[in-house]
Amino acid sequence: MRLRWAWEQRRRRATELAARHPEAAAVLTFYQEVAGFQQILATRPEAPAGVVEARRHRRTVALDGAARRLEGLLDVVSRAAPAPMAEVAWLLRTGPAEVREALLAQYLTGETPGGDEEVRRWLLARSFLQPYAAREVDGRGGTPGATAGAEAGDLHPARVCPRCGSAPLVGVLSDTGREEGAFHLICSLCGEPWRYPRLVCTLCGEERAGARTYFQADAFPHLRLDCCGTCGGYLKVTDLRRQALAVPDADDLASLTLDLWAQGQGYTKVEPNLAGL
Ligand SMILES: [Zn+2]
Ligand SMILES: [Zn+2]
Repeated sequence: MRLRWAWEQRRRRATELAARHPEAAAVLTFYQEVAGFQQILATRPEAPAGVVEARRHRRTVALDGAARRLEGLLDVVSRAAPAPMAEVAWLLRTGPAEVREALLAQYLTGETPGGDEEVRRWLLARSFLQPYAAREVDGRGGTPGATAGAEAGDLHPARVCPRCGSAPLVGVLSDTGREEGAFHLICSLCGEPWRYPRLVCTLCGEERAGARTYFQADAFPHLRLDCCGTCGGYLKVTDLRRQALAVPDADDLASLTLDLWAQGQGYTKVEPNLAGL
């Protein structure tokens, strides 16, 4: 099973999930629009070079014409996002170009910020750079077919993406050609899957089984939260053996109720999704 999903696949999955989970329909509809724009970005010829390397070494890269494309994404988000995110996008869109350029540089060089507004700005920069980073890593614009190196390779115990150094967005359980029930983390920027020890916390490295609790809800039998009692972090895990049609990004957004529960219990997600959860 290939652990990369095309933008079109994400859009379709979001449409299906929006019909089934009305509580998440607004954010899933927003996500469909963003994925549609990302699909266009992924095929543009003027993509900036070196986004993955820049992020990995926490340095900026010349974005030139591509930075102007951010305005297009901000238009989409201003129109389609739920209120707080739409406002943040609108302020960025109508503000000076230097602020937008500084935001992209901030994403490439920094760590996930705290504070709701800062997180929303960060998510916009991440959404914009995702298709470029995915294209660099995948070489095929996120089209299913090729097999990524780390996906099939040996266990990679790093808690950040071996390609670009970003935090994982979600974990995935699947039957790969090599192993049943293999566990991979999926990068929040470039989408790279990398094999990771299933029982080790992705935030603090805690390995003791007793430090970990799992949470599941009947509405999402293929999803699970791995919560760490040592650092208070949690990761959402998609079990593709239970739902082969799942697309982790979209299923993550459809199950916001799980995040609200975990965050209400005081847990912090490893990396926020597009809804800021
Ligand atoms: Zn990555
Ligand atoms: Zn931990």
